Amino acid sequence: MKTALITGASRGIGEQIARAFSANGYNVVINYNKSRERALSIANEIGADAFKADVGDFKQVNELVDFTLQKYKRIDVLVNNAGIALKQMLMQDVTEEEFDELVRVNLKGTFNCCKCVIPSMVSNKKGNIINISSIWGQTGGSCEVVYSMTKAGIIGFTRSLACELAPSGIRVNAIAPGFINTEMNGHLSESDRAEFISQIPLMRAGCAEDVANAALFLAGDRADYITGQVISVNGGLY
Ligand code: NAP
Repeated sequence: MKTALITGASRGIGEQIARAFSANGYNVVINYNKSRERALSIANEIGADAFKADVGDFKQVNELVDFTLQKYKRIDVLVNNAGIALKQMLMQDVTEEEFDELVRVNLKGTFNCCKCVIPSMVSNKKGNIINISSIWGQTGGSCEVVYSMTKAGIIGFTRSLACELAPSGIRVNAIAPGFINTEMNGHLSESDRAEFISQIPLMRAGCAEDVANAALFLAGDRADYITGQVISVNGGLY
């Protein structure tokens, strides 16, 4: 049985990715940071493990990966999904602390998880890493400048790491979701939501399952010749 470690799986996109992998026969380890009850309840429901770790903290990530390897001996799939966003605001209004936290969670978190998981994947000569970027990392987005910067960074990281790890049999890809219905967008007003959706060719917001389906495909054998790519799950935005 294959094992998938999903970060930020206590709600939203990560939760649906965890559910999809579990439903498709994977052992699943759900990482969470603050939402303990929700993570435990999902884990209980789908027969997964839940493990608390702040992905921006290297020591905690090391413990998460140690736990997973001790229990399941291998990690076949790592999904770097944990991420944070700020409310929409001008770059000039982002504080230094907010900047540091976005970079710490979104970028350093992805680095930390990869760094801890890769040695075991290299010794297995097989593995699959999926990083969750964003459409803003592809196009840039006004009033989401620092968030967009971190998500563009994830794309550069993904492409470079894919080249580095290909000889070891490890594939690395990114998913760039568009507008997905989760709590991350919960602060938007109805008119802002309607404005976003009016620009989407498929005329609806995405749901977390749309992203989970892409992650499942990328992790599977049918995607065996795909690495270093960014798969857009955005309803046809461009
Ligand atoms: P969400 O509903 O806000 O969920 C975020 C998840 O990340 C939660 O499970 C949260 O766990 C976890 N998390 C946050 N900080 C963490 C940390 N330091 N350590 C470990 N886990 C942490 O967001 P979402 O919409 O599902 O987003 C998931 C990913 O998709 C993010 O990377 C986001 O940038 C990306 N994305 C989302 C959209 C969208 O429209 N929703 C679009 C493009 C990309 P706790 O609650 O347990 O702390």
